[in-house]
Amino acid sequence: MHVLVVNCGSSSIKLDVLDPHTGERAATARVERLRSPGCALVMGDAVVPIPDADHAAALAVALPRLLEGRPVDAVGHRVVHGGARFDAPTLIDDAVLEAIAALSPLAPLHNPANLAGIVAARALLPTIPHVAVFDTAFHATMPRRARSYALPKALVEKYGLRRYGFHGPSHAWVAQQAGHYLKEDLRGLRLITCHLGNGASVTAVEGGRSVETSMGMTPLEGLVMGTRAGDIDPGVLLEIGRREGLDVAGLDRLLNHQSGLLGLSGVGNDLRDIEALAAAGDEDCRLAIQVFAHRVRKYIGAYAAVMGGVDAIVFTAGIGEHSALMRHRIAQRLDFLGARFDEDRNRDVRVSAAHPVAEFSEPGSRVRLLVVATDEARAIAHDAALLSAGAQSVEAASRIPIAISARHIHLTRAAVDALFGPGHALTPYKPLSQPGQFACEEKLTVVGPKGRIANVRVLGPERPECQVEVSRTDEFALGVDAPVRDSGDVANTPGVTLEGPAGSLTLSKGLICARRHIHMHPDDAARFGVKDRDVVEVAVDTDGRDLTFGDVLIRVSAKYRLEMHLDTDEANAAQLSGGDGGVLASTGGSVRLRRRSVGFDAE
Ligand code: ADP
Repeated sequence: MHVLVVNCGSSSIKLDVLDPHTGERAATARVERLRSPGCALVMGDAVVPIPDADHAAALAVALPRLLEGRPVDAVGHRVVHGGARFDAPTLIDDAVLEAIAALSPLAPLHNPANLAGIVAARALLPTIPHVAVFDTAFHATMPRRARSYALPKALVEKYGLRRYGFHGPSHAWVAQQAGHYLKEDLRGLRLITCHLGNGASVTAVEGGRSVETSMGMTPLEGLVMGTRAGDIDPGVLLEIGRREGLDVAGLDRLLNHQSGLLGLSGVGNDLRDIEALAAAGDEDCRLAIQVFAHRVRKYIGAYAAVMGGVDAIVFTAGIGEHSALMRHRIAQRLDFLGARFDEDRNRDVRVSAAHPVAEFSEPGSRVRLLVVATDEARAIAHDAALLSAGAQSVEAASRIPIAISARHIHLTRAAVDALFGPGHALTPYKPLSQPGQFACEEKLTVVGPKGRIANVRVLGPERPECQVEVSRTDEFALGVDAPVRDSGDVANTPGVTLEGPAGSLTLSKGLICARRHIHMHPDDAARFGVKDRDVVEVAVDTDGRDLTFGDVLIRVSAKYRLEMHLDTDEANAAQLSGGDGGVLASTGGSVRLRRRSVGFDAE
């Protein structure tokens, strides 16, 4: 299989034809300096001048040459901004095209360029699936506390102001590669991925999902970049605007194109030049390097705190992969985190498509320091291949019953003794839809630092670990931040106090917001073409209203009956009613399994 990947930037176009499974390139083409007299198409050794070409004109020249004699099965389009609507790769149809166009105000430089690529490629290849892969989608799992700006609500709602994050395919890809290298399931890892290229961002990846990232509503927030300032006191902008008489366009130019490494060094945005001049004594270049490294270190410390620890720190993209000096400045003296830096290994790091991962921590370092070669085109091709392969099953999808999971508690034998009295046997109140599970007569009060929730139902049978599953709304009532977790995964979660008739019990861990999931029998899994632990996207259709939930976990077991579980907040969002104060309640609504979304196959 071959996939064409189209990546239209504001002034350049990258085109790759590749095998999505091996990453092997059948052909590549680049168009540089769009809309300028020097605009040219570069393919191998051939340079074709296409003076003043815009995206459409350049693609009209480039695509037929690139595709001649090279049939492709699908096209993956990089789309920078997916807004709140697109949290997964999406098959492109006219409606999706319109929706991407409507998001252009959020990414005025990028989305129109991406759209031009989609229009041109669809015209040339009308019969194969085209898939939009969004830079923002990987970060759709960021919790609200991480994605919100402290701005007036009315403005936030009017303009969709929130943090989205970018470089998603790269962060997702290198996280996956790091998991393979460490021979660990991503779901058990806390990673900090540092994409340090001309654009740069850091992401906290907990359990394979982005929980925080340094770029915001636009790519301007966060790290020092080639020509972008990254984090800055907004008061500085007010001051410069006033003093220099800069209007919005002037500030845009300043922050996007004249700042960052270029602004600090005064010599350019290429770190190689800056490193050479710094070595020769240039003070401005030295400062540029120091500020860049300091900012990354700050984020690493912050993200370790966000995740309650870190297992590996991953460096990628031009600077992350190639600048041993920058890695040294960033990763030295992180011993307090458990990351022991090895100077020799760092100097010897070489990564390539064939050997995409190198390690530069000391042997035995608790936190591993890795360099991973990023391959955004391959990540995009991979998503496009996956989605186009699943395209037919969209039509074949059958309906899945939804159950609403109200807040509930699982207890150990010892906890039942402590809360209800020694030897107490839980009293079944009614069976749940999943075989063997039952709601109990017993109820408990859950007590957090801020408040209490009474009458929370206990579910049976007893389990090896206590677990208290609440909704977002409950978190606030209790005053605790509960992470979104798969049921049963309670490592590194906050504790809470339970009060029962015979006594109270303080758990040191176990409070979670349950991750939405679908229980399936292996027969159902075969029918839908998914396997245990896959992550899918589902469209919930109630009263003709279509709501999409990304990041839905598939659980397959011969013991399970087909059913999707949402918590009460999610059910409210989908306008599903149900729940009877403590049990899983089936509702009239239903969902259609649409397609796979995040996650790469093991290779
Ligand atoms: P993007 O794709 O965001 O344009 P890249 O990931 O290609 O950027 O990274 C480009 C940056 O990587 C450039 O600023 C360049 O300075 C830096 N870079 C590449 N190779 C080296 C190297 N050997 N030493 C230092 N910096 C490097």
